[in-house]
Amino acid sequence: MRKPFVAGNWKMNKTGEESRLLVAELLPELQKISGVDCAVCPPFPYLVSLSNMLAGSGIGLGAQNMHWEASGAYTGEVAPKMVAEFCQYVILGHSERRAYFGETDEMINKKVKAALANGITPIMCVGETLAENEAGRTAEVVSRQTRLGLEGIPAGEAQKVVIAYEPVWAIGTGRAATSEQAQAVHANVVRTTLKELLGEAAAQAIRIQYGGSVNAKNAAELFAMPDIDGALVGGASLKAPDFVAIVQAAAARG
Ligand code: PEP
Repeated sequence: MRKPFVAGNWKMNKTGEESRLLVAELLPELQKISGVDCAVCPPFPYLVSLSNMLAGSGIGLGAQNMHWEASGAYTGEVAPKMVAEFCQYVILGHSERRAYFGETDEMINKKVKAALANGITPIMCVGETLAENEAGRTAEVVSRQTRLGLEGIPAGEAQKVVIAYEPVWAIGTGRAATSEQAQAVHANVVRTTLKELLGEAAAQAIRIQYGGSVNAKNAAELFAMPDIDGALVGGASLKAPDFVAIVQAAAARG
């Protein structure tokens, strides 16, 4: 069975002091919870100090982005090896990176490959915009992003990837997809595409998180669905009691 996985995407929030306070508040509570993987993904400057705080705790640490090249003249970028020094996870292809920083499926594919080559678990985000959703193009868009993001990666490697289905219209809007809507995309689009691409065994092994306005109230209902294997949480991951409640809901998943 797939172990649920909940990750907090802090985006560009918190000061250094606030980030340490949040982790100090999260640590004792998250350590009481078993049967679920969890991670926090703070901004780059805090990875070093938070990796020291989290060492040996069983709570994972993730970056929110990285470059695919090993080193070189890429001002402002961070290489996979640098991320791997401190992190177990990296969020790749978030819709904000696709929309504001011009990330394409091809770039995301290079990043996914680089993460795997450096022993980092990629959390690869896919999801349709509101316009695409309203035009009935959800399956086409999500399937394409999944296929191109994993292109050229053998099944044995690809099954280490975590996919986050994040409908763009649900991110930061307070309007989460219903558990039925999310389950339908997870099972009929993402997992079906994974099956075609990688075969049944890898498709069943890959964890598919849902992301988009997950909170302490709606988490349990989402996690009750058979193909919703956890969540990528934005806003609610910035408050310790809310994030802890979401991780508890994932742990309680039958
Ligand atoms: C996200 O940006 O990954 C996200 C899911 O944000 P929120 O939970 O705030 O909708």
